[in-house]
Amino acid sequence: MRFKNVYKEEIKKYVAKNNLKYYIDTMGCAMNENDSSKYAGILESMGFTKAEDIDKSNLVLFNTCSVRENAENTLYGRLGSLKKKKKEDSNTIICVVGCMSQQKHVIEKIKESYPYTDIVLGTYSMISFPEKLYNVIMKKERQYEYIEISNDVIEEVPIIYESDKKASVSIIYGCNNFCTFCIVPHVRGRERSRMPEDILKDVKHLAEKGYKEIMLLGQNVNSYGKDLNINYTFADLLKDLDKIEGIEIIRFTSPHPKDFSEDVIDVIASSKKISHLLHLPLQSGNTRVLKKMNRKYTKEQYLELVDRIKSKIPDVSFSTDIIVGFPGETAEEFEDTMDVVNKVKFEQIFMFIYSKRESTPAAEMEDGITYEEKVERLEILKKKFEEITNEKNEKMIGQVYEILIEGKSKTNDKLYTGRTLNNKVVIFDADETLVGKIVNVEIIKNNLWYLTGKIVG
Ligand code: SF4
Repeated sequence: MRFKNVYKEEIKKYVAKNNLKYYIDTMGCAMNENDSSKYAGILESMGFTKAEDIDKSNLVLFNTCSVRENAENTLYGRLGSLKKKKKEDSNTIICVVGCMSQQKHVIEKIKESYPYTDIVLGTYSMISFPEKLYNVIMKKERQYEYIEISNDVIEEVPIIYESDKKASVSIIYGCNNFCTFCIVPHVRGRERSRMPEDILKDVKHLAEKGYKEIMLLGQNVNSYGKDLNINYTFADLLKDLDKIEGIEIIRFTSPHPKDFSEDVIDVIASSKKISHLLHLPLQSGNTRVLKKMNRKYTKEQYLELVDRIKSKIPDVSFSTDIIVGFPGETAEEFEDTMDVVNKVKFEQIFMFIYSKRESTPAAEMEDGITYEEKVERLEILKKKFEEITNEKNEKMIGQVYEILIEGKSKTNDKLYTGRTLNNKVVIFDADETLVGKIVNVEIIKNNLWYLTGKIVG
């Protein structure tokens, strides 16, 4: 399905007359970041410009996440704090989109408790956003929409990225896995792959515009193509993307360990562009817990996959997601997770205490672990991860890495920043003419969460 905005010209006149500005507040994952870039694209195509901050905006859009309970509470807090802004200027437009608003009970709660919200749309309603905005602006009607997710994929949505060197590209939407803790299949629907020609066209276009790095996105990227019935796999897509001139770095997230096929490993091994930092979500290192999570691999299978990848890509490293305190996880079972952490020595760990999500099977499971125990496990994991990071950083000192210069460092504007292929942030002295170029950087100092380097030869 192609995106069309028939309301564009009419809204443009109104926006120009009133010099309207938008502000987007994104919660959650890389998929949401990508959706926010699309909402920015839609708004800018209608003449809105980006506001410096929320106070200077006329339209506030919250792109929500429902993976953890605290993200939901954050939204309600932020909506509450906008009541004053709306009172002061009743023309302020407040929009809530994304995973949270794909749930009927959330729509009801917003209607009841935050009735000054103008637009509430779920994950599948981006296509109707221009129409809803038109109705709010021209007819002064509030717009709350819940539609069931269908199998359509929407193409040609305008998109504005934060960076002019790095861009994310969705390749597949939804998920069929139904991990018992996860709400994603309920709010993002079943797997739907984009056609290869649409993805390749987008990436070629990005390369022409000077983009150097792409991040392929999907809830389960290595399921890519299965639903298309055209005999074209994730490995085929990687091979074709690898040939696009101008793109120098290709990353992807997230693959599911159970679907990590041999041909994908071979393509990565033979490519000079595909990052050798692979995200391989573990969730738990204990086989009984993994079964309760419906992850469909065991501790041994996960470790065997890591070894298989290492045998073909010797300099590979891994990042992962780990949930501690899943319902019923015993202290011994948590030790299995720590055992995998010790063995794999992850480059990055996104770690969370289990968060109960309504309408998922795990929400009904017997817990039996106190909150204090969960926090204690998280602290143990954090400490171990710090040790591993420190150890790895020390080994990088004196080594030279190819780094794409992304721009000025956010923490020190006299220095520039970029990432190694294994995604370590490095800051170093450079100049503006080098931004967007790939340079050789020698690592000279370990600062735990980032490294200091110097450009060489
Ligand atoms: S693979 Fe599991 S954790 Fe990931 S999105 Fe699908 S259901 Fe959620």
